[in-house]
Amino acid sequence: MGMESPSDIFGSNVFDLRTMKKRLPKATFKALNQAIENGSKLGPSDADIVAHLMMEWAISKNATHYTHWFQPMTGLTAEKHDAFFNFDPQLGAIEGFTGVDLVQGEPDASSFPSGGMRSTFEARGYTAWDASSPVFVMINGNVTFLCIPTVFFTYTGHAMDKKTPLLRSIKTLDQAASESLKLLDGRDVKVDATVGCEQEYFLVDKKYYERRPDLIMAERTLLGCAPAKGQQMDDHYFGSIKDRVLSFMQAAEERLYRLGVPSKTRHNEVAPHQFETAPIFESANLAADHNQLTMEVIRKVAAEHGLAALLHEKPFAGINGSGKHINWSMQASDGTNLLEPGKEPHRNMVFLFFLVAVVRAIHKRGGVLRSSIACAGNDHRLGANEAPPAIMSMFLGRQLTHILDEIEAAGSLSESVVEAIDLGLAQLQDIRVDHTDRNRTSPFAFTGNKFEFRAVGSSQSVSFPITVLNAAVTESLREMNAELSKLKDLDEKSLLKMLRPFIMESKAIRFEGNNYSQEWADEAKRRGLPNLKTTPEALMLWQDPEVRAFVTGVGFLNEEEMDARFSVRLEQYCHNMGIEASLLLRLVSGYVLPPSLRRQTEVAQAIAATKTICGDNPAMAAAIKEQEGFLENLTTNIGNLMAARNLLQETMDEVEAVEGEAEQASGYATRVKPIMDQIRVYSDALEMLGEASSWELPSYHELLFLM
Ligand code: ADP
Ligand code: MG
Repeated sequence: MGMESPSDIFGSNVFDLRTMKKRLPKATFKALNQAIENGSKLGPSDADIVAHLMMEWAISKNATHYTHWFQPMTGLTAEKHDAFFNFDPQLGAIEGFTGVDLVQGEPDASSFPSGGMRSTFEARGYTAWDASSPVFVMINGNVTFLCIPTVFFTYTGHAMDKKTPLLRSIKTLDQAASESLKLLDGRDVKVDATVGCEQEYFLVDKKYYERRPDLIMAERTLLGCAPAKGQQMDDHYFGSIKDRVLSFMQAAEERLYRLGVPSKTRHNEVAPHQFETAPIFESANLAADHNQLTMEVIRKVAAEHGLAALLHEKPFAGINGSGKHINWSMQASDGTNLLEPGKEPHRNMVFLFFLVAVVRAIHKRGGVLRSSIACAGNDHRLGANEAPPAIMSMFLGRQLTHILDEIEAAGSLSESVVEAIDLGLAQLQDIRVDHTDRNRTSPFAFTGNKFEFRAVGSSQSVSFPITVLNAAVTESLREMNAELSKLKDLDEKSLLKMLRPFIMESKAIRFEGNNYSQEWADEAKRRGLPNLKTTPEALMLWQDPEVRAFVTGVGFLNEEEMDARFSVRLEQYCHNMGIEASLLLRLVSGYVLPPSLRRQTEVAQAIAATKTICGDNPAMAAAIKEQEGFLENLTTNIGNLMAARNLLQETMDEVEAVEGEAEQASGYATRVKPIMDQIRVYSDALEMLGEASSWELPSYHELLFLM
């Protein structure tokens, strides 16, 4: 059965502006619209009317419950359901939902991580409706409930979620960028950050998934020897999509369309069983909510199709991991994309100004940006010669590099250079052609009329990296606005002159070469660019006074909120590593050693039996020696594995006893992880030497080629 046309079902489960306009009284709609546009408060009587009509709409969709849907610091989404159902002493059972229910909630927040914020303040956590993201109904099987996107904060108003800082950063970016536009060309507009997230994921057949405790508990394989065929042939990328997967994709898209998520592209990725989906870009806040919904829908629909979706950054060793590209730009309320170079980028002063602002932002805050995407899963990916390195740099492409270099050299674009650029551009049908000749190895690349931040992990919430990016650009714009406002006569010449020192000071961040190479790592070091290889190292940046001044200066987090995030993320890292390590101990003794020891016995017995019969036969000597070699290999690996297992257990005990989150996290990164890697080497060797039919853990062959 096919799907109804996307335009017919799009947003059908969303109480969006169109639905509101249809259902709300004119005056209420106007008040709500104003509240949304100005971020102002909705009056109590209007809130009651909106809530009531919202409930009626939700009930018409079979909803029985509502929930304040929020994004705690874990990076997941959370919901606590309340029934519309109420009991009135006079009227009996009746459905009810008031303005207060809509606007504010008080989930039992005690089990959400607060990074210590609550203990110093107050135990309660509150949620408040973010009217800039519309409410929607979630339909899971025969259960339907109304979801109200909310922010989550403490009694004293400290943000305990990922949405609040994002909203703050969107606001400060708007202030700085609209100020720039006012100065540049007198335009009086608002500026919004726009975002489109490309989401990568793997699918595996549920029947194999369910027999891999590591996939269930950690969403990645801790063991598993490489299949004979990996991704060397590159035959999966953009290949025709299997019917079973296509039918999953279509079902997921249908669900997303109904939720108002503008899902656009789908294709196979480089690795076997790896896929990608991307939406049409939207305003950053919506895009972040929609990416959360996309991840959730992918997981749910996969399960309904007998599949398991893996959103982890590195589910399989030796095969590409999954990332999430955040495509980012700035859009003025008059509809112009501020990073659109047009046909003549060298004459487009607005574009050059904002381009330089972003270059400076990444130069100055690349480390913080890297830190914003640090997590245990992403540590397997960054710098693993398949994904961008942990060193932040940016790729601009030949034409833009040429333009910036020329401004640097001359303080202006000389006539001859302008001609050369014109000529260069004329040879290309469109400037895009040049920019789309993209450098896939760059963590932060200009791709035509937007930047693409590619180091983000596939399972991560995009809210925080977008927040940091917005904030870094805000900081950069504020400094540039100060210079801009000093210019007496603003013309091309004076503007280029003003940009020149900014271009020079940020030059170290620009890199057009191969980011995977050792030469780049060496060069980056000479340039003084940070290379924060592990999560604990990257998170330590939050202790740097200069970084803290940036965060509180732009104002997306205050001191307490910053410390809370530092602490929550270190704790998450430790939990994550601790779970994986203890899981590995069990896998080794429960799944790897038993068949290996049986194998050892069988081989030893076979050799002994052979020897009693033909041990004296000189013609057999070489063959027997080979078999003894095989046994030796097997035995050595078993011995090594047992020793490494013991070492892991001891080391874990020591690390767990370490005082201080940062010290513990660093113990996991530098002491526990290398032993886990070593265990994998022995275990995978044993899988290779073992009998396939007695190996209980489904192999990479089954996970990656059978579906
Ligand atoms: P690719 O070649 O990387 O697939 P696409 O043009 O398909 O490039 O864009 C990838 C993502 O970038 C999509 O989600 C798209 O909507 C988004 N995108 C395009 N323009 C912008 C923009 N101005 N701001 C933010 N995201 C954008
Ligand atoms: Mg892309």
